Amino acid sequence: ASFEDFKLNRQLLNAIEEAGYSTPTEIQQKAITPILAGQDVMGIAQTGTGKTAAFVLPLLMKLKYAQGQDPRALILSPTRELAMQIEENVRTFSTYLDLRTIVLYGGLGPKTQKEQLAQGCDIIVATPGRFLDLYLEGDINLKSLKFLVMDEADKMMDMGFIGKIHRILEVVPRKRQNLLFSATMSELVRKISGDFLAFPTVIEV
Ligand code: AMP
Repeated sequence: ASFEDFKLNRQLLNAIEEAGYSTPTEIQQKAITPILAGQDVMGIAQTGTGKTAAFVLPLLMKLKYAQGQDPRALILSPTRELAMQIEENVRTFSTYLDLRTIVLYGGLGPKTQKEQLAQGCDIIVATPGRFLDLYLEGDINLKSLKFLVMDEADKMMDMGFIGKIHRILEVVPRKRQNLLFSATMSELVRKISGDFLAFPTVIEV
């Protein structure tokens, strides 16, 4: 298998090659095609399996180029560290694409993040609390949102984010593509998946 097998454009394939990835990992082999096809996907995969690129690559392919003021993709992460890692992946693979990414997390003042949001973006990577704070203050318009990703859903539940996730689900547009990744499949993850995904393709590695 090779990344050339997927319907990814030359800009993405060049960035993948420069990142030193030559062969897709199992989760990438199984997830990229259904995500490109527009399906909701639930991926059960541990960190270290290449799960980040498994959703970032098809997402970037679907977003393609900068458009308008408002975000079209929201990637939720339980922790600041993971949010920063995801953002780094997004930046690496969008080197040759014209997409604007902002990362939002707590633990520091919101001023810079508010200024960045005011400039417009295509992708937001965020922890749930800071995302909601900024949304409720009117800094984020969700009317253009098309893609919602929840990474490490099990950790989200362990950290007590279920209320915040439900609040976010109330304010995003109904018609959208959803991706959920989790290292384990617990009762709470099953529950949030049911609230979040529509007829998902389930992939386990
Ligand atoms: P993740 O599971 O997304 O945290 O990725 C774990 C590590 O594997 C990261 O350092 C990635 O850069 C790397 N990685 C992901 N996919 C590939 C691939 N297809 N080939 C080589 N390295 C990869």
